[in-house]
Amino acid sequence: MTINIILLGPPGAGKGTQASRLVAEKGMVQLSTGDMLRAARSSGTEMGRRVAEVMDRGELVTDEIVIGLIREQLDKGGKGFIFDGFPRTLPQADALGRLLEESGMALDAVIELQVDDEALVGRIVKRAEDSLAAGQPVRRDDTPEVFAERLREYYKKTAPLLGYYYAKGNLKAVDGMAPMDQVATQIAAALPS
Ligand code: AMP
Repeated sequence: MTINIILLGPPGAGKGTQASRLVAEKGMVQLSTGDMLRAARSSGTEMGRRVAEVMDRGELVTDEIVIGLIREQLDKGGKGFIFDGFPRTLPQADALGRLLEESGMALDAVIELQVDDEALVGRIVKRAEDSLAAGQPVRRDDTPEVFAERLREYYKKTAPLLGYYYAKGNLKAVDGMAPMDQVATQIAAALPS
């Protein structure tokens, strides 16, 4: 069965980690607007240069840009989509609803990764340290200062989506503070079978 889900939660909640597992275990397609925007910035295009500045401040890029990026990917079908880091605003959520409907697809679940804010900063610092140790580039927005802005953006613009999807009957909460394997088990249990 093809299922389409959104992983929702603040930066550092583990959306990317859990999305990668669903890709490996279920063959789903991960659509991460953060990854797409990082690819755009390293491509050196005018759009890439503009989004780089916004990302480095920890702010959200425009709805128009990310909706356009998602629209381009939706013909990739596969065994269902995992929307990771999208939607992040109410207009993005409305746009996703329309795009799915136009493609004859449904949104099967919105998984909220519930985490403790205090723990998030620690996770971000660790992500930067792990990247350094592995010789991988450190994300420029993984500093405590920029992270604080990303968290503010989350509460201001993204957290309202919890009410939006709750009202639609789509929202399922999982404990994002549990060990990674247990989070994966809880997500699997929240998906329609
Ligand atoms: P992420 O990798 O999901 O943490 O995203 C990194 C950065 O990319 C965010 O802090 C935003 O600047 C930008 N970004 C990613 N997804 C979106 C989105 N759906 N809407 C607006 N900005 C986004």
